[in-house]
Amino acid sequence: MGVARFALCKISSSLLPRMHRPSALRQMSVAADLKNSTIFRSQGLIGGRWVAAHDGKTLQVNNPSTGEIIADVPFMGRRETNDAISSAYEALNSWSKLTATERSKCLRKWYDLIMSHKEELGQLITLEQGKPLKEALGEVSYGASFIEFFAEEAKRVYGDIIPATLADRRLFVLKQPVGVVGAITPWNFPLAMITRKVGPALACGCTAVVKPSELTPLTALAAAELALQAGIPPGVLNVVMGNAPDIGDALLASPQVRKITFTGSTAVGKKLMAGAAGTVKRISLELGGNAPCIVFDDADLDVAVKGVLAAKFRNSGQTCVCANRVIVHEGIYEKFAEAFSKAVQNLQVGDGFTEGVVQGPLINEAAVQKVESFLQDALSKGAKVILGGKRHSLGMTFYEPTIVTDVKTDMLLAREEVFGPVAPLLRFKTEEEAIRIANDTNAGLAAYIFTSNVQRTWRVSEALEYGLVGVNEGIISTEVAPFGGVKQSGLGREGSKYGIDEYLELKYVCLGDMNRK
Ligand code: ADP
Repeated sequence: MGVARFALCKISSSLLPRMHRPSALRQMSVAADLKNSTIFRSQGLIGGRWVAAHDGKTLQVNNPSTGEIIADVPFMGRRETNDAISSAYEALNSWSKLTATERSKCLRKWYDLIMSHKEELGQLITLEQGKPLKEALGEVSYGASFIEFFAEEAKRVYGDIIPATLADRRLFVLKQPVGVVGAITPWNFPLAMITRKVGPALACGCTAVVKPSELTPLTALAAAELALQAGIPPGVLNVVMGNAPDIGDALLASPQVRKITFTGSTAVGKKLMAGAAGTVKRISLELGGNAPCIVFDDADLDVAVKGVLAAKFRNSGQTCVCANRVIVHEGIYEKFAEAFSKAVQNLQVGDGFTEGVVQGPLINEAAVQKVESFLQDALSKGAKVILGGKRHSLGMTFYEPTIVTDVKTDMLLAREEVFGPVAPLLRFKTEEEAIRIANDTNAGLAAYIFTSNVQRTWRVSEALEYGLVGVNEGIISTEVAPFGGVKQSGLGREGSKYGIDEYLELKYVCLGDMNRK
């Protein structure tokens, strides 16, 4: 990711570009309604109480479509984080001692409440993150699914009995919660990145201190409000935000925090991994990707176009599983480029509340500048723009859906994650070359292949050094399958029956002297 915070100043509706005024006014009225709703919170949550920063400092949350300030939230730091850790630590004893069924019931209630507030949560996501409302509503269902899944999984945390090596002994393996979890999450999925960490953590008896992105804290706070309404006890879930490095350092320094789980940039992930060494904490990291999308000459062209479109342009290209390199067989390169352009030029760009819009703004100015610099680098090395290639006439951080051809492996567009609506098309001749190009990166999160050949499907899927592989499909994330990367894309898996293991310790118990009378 690697997008720095860029503060947008408050602008009055009369100063907004002409095309923007109706949508800006509509968004202001959605924001006003949401502020009156029972889920809207703009303070931190510590020990079940909504609190300000100790010194009263705040930070602004902006709407990326309009630049309007939606709310001010507390700018917290070490002191509030330490309070939150103490609350989570105090709550750990009673929460972990509840039966799995009791915890499961709380989580199920939380899931039900999230789903019954789907519309408001979706609006909040669109307002602070910018993605189209339909996509935001999809995120609410997806985010909630982790709570539902782990509410069920809570009841299936089985241990083991191991056949003993001595007749008078019995050997057991218990699974126990790791303890207090620090969860640090990004802005691109303001709800789902939290629920897929907190769902399994709470299910197996851990408590949590969550630090959402400062760009999108309102969804996290609304979800936390619903957790309280669901009866999740005070202190089990805490939310702080503000000075990210200070909050991160406090979480890392505390011996009471036994696990850090993080989704975000590789650079911050590496810092957290190094910092966790000080107190030897468990760590899960879901970091950047550089997803290859290989289109073979035996692919069904319509399926490939649809799949690449979805894999590339979801959330305006701002996900770590978004296709970053479209690697196309030379025999169908031109044909694919033409069909793909036709599909991409139909993508409607605009504010997320407008019917039919499928491409919202980028999160901030720094994100647009990153896209521009990557494109500039590619063009200076011989690539060609065949569609888009500039800021959208809507202004703000809207960017035209873009296709670039003649992209080479040494260009920034191929080496790093662009995190925007730019699809670079590379060429290959043989299957071996395609695999080599795909694996020639330090990242290893998601990869996609489009082919009709069954043998090739298996061969290539096995050869790709990635944690997830989509075959003839561009959207593959689901709560029931393990999500995570290899190489520098991270450690650990989220979701699925494997996801809960990240929050469990194994304890071996040896019962000796069985024959004593
Ligand atoms: P992005 O490009 O999405 O901003 P980051 O890795 O910078 O990616 O941010 C992901 C999350 O990590 C956010 O919640 C951010 O505030 C947090 N973060 C950034 N720097 C630090 C840090 N030094 N320590 C702890 N958390 C951090």
